[in-house]
Amino acid sequence: MRLDRRGFIAFMGASAAGLSARPARAQSGRAPRADDDAMLFDATKCIGCKNCVHACADANGLPRESTSGLWHDPTDLNAETKNIIMQFRGDDGRQSFVKRQCMHCIEPACTAACMIQALHKDENGVVVYDANRCIGCRYCQVACPFEVPKFQWGSNAAIIVKCEMCAHRVADGREPACCEVCPTHAVIYGPRDQLLADAHARIAAAPDRYEPSVYGEHEAGGTQVMYLSKKGVSFQELGLPALGPEAVPALSKKIQHTVYKGFIAPMAVYAGLVAAVFHARRKAPEAGGDA
Ligand code: SF4
Ligand code: SF4
Ligand code: SF4
Repeated sequence: MRLDRRGFIAFMGASAAGLSARPARAQSGRAPRADDDAMLFDATKCIGCKNCVHACADANGLPRESTSGLWHDPTDLNAETKNIIMQFRGDDGRQSFVKRQCMHCIEPACTAACMIQALHKDENGVVVYDANRCIGCRYCQVACPFEVPKFQWGSNAAIIVKCEMCAHRVADGREPACCEVCPTHAVIYGPRDQLLADAHARIAAAPDRYEPSVYGEHEAGGTQVMYLSKKGVSFQELGLPALGPEAVPALSKKIQHTVYKGFIAPMAVYAGLVAAVFHARRKAPEAGGDA
């Protein structure tokens, strides 16, 4: 079951006894499949051209962000940038580029934290966002182990911004914009099981070229965006957090249990948030994109 804003208000009127923190997988909206949509980034192929950054902005109706003109600009994901390319430079001359966007976790902490499932998995296993459901609580930001969701502070109709694996393009039979424009195929799109097999085949074929594991195969319960790194450059040097194989939604459940413990007070707060956000949204213009 997913609740829209009206359903949520009705839900708040229901008995408190009916509300409890549900398992993370149930909250994500669907069970994972081996062939869910995925992306593979191969750091040995990336030349740092940032075509993917610009294509991502164009595809999502966002500005091509540059405030300083520096190569590193922007330096982090933000409310107007769903995809960035960062550069690692070691003291010993090692260097690598790395792409950052939502990891599309197999069991996402963000969907587990989102009590009305504004963030949820679509039919392809992609973590998508419904601004019409979002009440701006930003629990997803707290829960995400990769610090991906960003909040539009400057808008009356503030929303969460993150990569949705170009679900609007995929629905049209196109691939994600970043994968389409990459001149070296450093980032590719396909079913997770096939991309994972491809990644391991690359490592086996060139063990002197690659780090021996695939980031995202197991980390945080597995992610649908996976990485290969250059031999001698660790995933942590690329800014990817060291995470165990357990899915992270436990933190989300903790948030939910904390919030729901008092039930009446949070529901009153949420009722106010729903009303305020709904009022603001009705005044706000729609965002553009290549949909
Ligand atoms: S990386 Fe963060 S925002 Fe993306 S699916 Fe995982 S928990 Fe959600
Ligand atoms: S899949 Fe789409 S939204 Fe995500 S990083 Fe690539 S271009 Fe941007
Ligand atoms: S378009 Fe491809 S090669 Fe260029 S920065 Fe993006 S991932 Fe790297």
